[in-house]
Amino acid sequence: MNPLSPPLPAHVQMAQAPVSRQSFNEVMMPTYAPAQFVPVRGQGVQVWDQNGKDYIDFGGGVAVLAIGHNHPAAMAALKAQSEKIWHVSNWMTNEPALRLARRLIAHTFAERVFLCNSGTEANEGALKLARKYASTHFGEHKFEIVAAKNSFHGRTLFAVNVGGSPKYVKGFGPALPGIHHIDYNSVEQLKASINDNTCAVILEPMQGEGGMLPGTREFLQAARTLCDQHHALLIFDEIQSGMGRTGALFNYMQKGVTPDIVTSAKGLGGGFPIGAFFSTQKITEVLQPGTHGSTFGGNPLACAVAEAVFDIINNSEVLAGVLAKEQHFRRRLAAINQELACFVDVRGEGLWLGAELNPALASRGAEAVAKAHEHGLIMLTAGNGNILRFAPSLLITEAEIDLGLDRLHATLKAML
Ligand code: PLP
Repeated sequence: MNPLSPPLPAHVQMAQAPVSRQSFNEVMMPTYAPAQFVPVRGQGVQVWDQNGKDYIDFGGGVAVLAIGHNHPAAMAALKAQSEKIWHVSNWMTNEPALRLARRLIAHTFAERVFLCNSGTEANEGALKLARKYASTHFGEHKFEIVAAKNSFHGRTLFAVNVGGSPKYVKGFGPALPGIHHIDYNSVEQLKASINDNTCAVILEPMQGEGGMLPGTREFLQAARTLCDQHHALLIFDEIQSGMGRTGALFNYMQKGVTPDIVTSAKGLGGGFPIGAFFSTQKITEVLQPGTHGSTFGGNPLACAVAEAVFDIINNSEVLAGVLAKEQHFRRRLAAINQELACFVDVRGEGLWLGAELNPALASRGAEAVAKAHEHGLIMLTAGNGNILRFAPSLLITEAEIDLGLDRLHATLKAML
């Protein structure tokens, strides 16, 4: 700096100073308590922080990084599209959006797709569609929704009300009417809650945030049958379970139950923000231009990346690999448990596993996550923080699983 120039005003100095984890507390709303390090680079399942320390990423950006960090095909798609066109608005359509929708239709039960920007937005749209369908065909009285306790469907006011966690609703005004919560996997409660005023039953085919709890075939099949009996739509929230996470393109395919609407996000963009919900032509006919919309939904950059991600995941070898790697992961977790007796249960599907901590460790999940960072491992929790949750890249190798689990072993050993 020129010694004769006056010092920069404090607010300009602040804006230009290097940022660190401490900056978060100074500038961001306190809705999160992020890790003590700031990731700056990623490659596959590895991440490096501001100090050059490396981590194995078993969190996958909360089940988002389906093909890992910075996959060359996704980067090439983003780069190529960024040189063509970034945004067109919904007054026009665009090629990547149409190609992505075609892929979803070709490989699922869907006949029509709506593209948006996040999981919450996908659920919001799916629930609006279900209400519109019910009011169009049966009348305004048919607006009730059945959802599961401990389910997670996102953070808008509607989504937290539909989600089954009272803690996310408290303080945000009166509960929205017409939403009923049942115990997950309880066929009896489902039967008791659904009636002719029900427009939709929304379920995660496996609960993620709520506790890494696979939905039973019996429960999901009962939901299908009861929805048919009461002319309600069955919505599967596959935002976390979809896009190969459980070893099929979507988890509904493994459960043998076809819903009416599926919501997708997270892995769909592999780290680029995008969401979608898809359904049949008959159901979506109740929508017209203007019924629903989103400024950025179907953004060409997001869709171009999602196309590349889709083509990698929608491959029988990759999907079979997920199931093979699940077995490897489980074997290694069992070996850790045999030595340390730290888990009371290991459950999940595909590369989406939860290890429930024993009663002595159950309140120390967040501590385990922070300790794991010291050992160079990123992982998540679920449930009440008593479950360690793993959702790595679907392309992770067995050697990388071993390296991460060696770090988990060291973390847990240090805590005992
Ligand atoms: N639904 C499920 C099952 C989720 O796991 C999540 C996010 O964790 C959401 C909805 C919300 O998605 P988003 O955070 O993209 O809005």
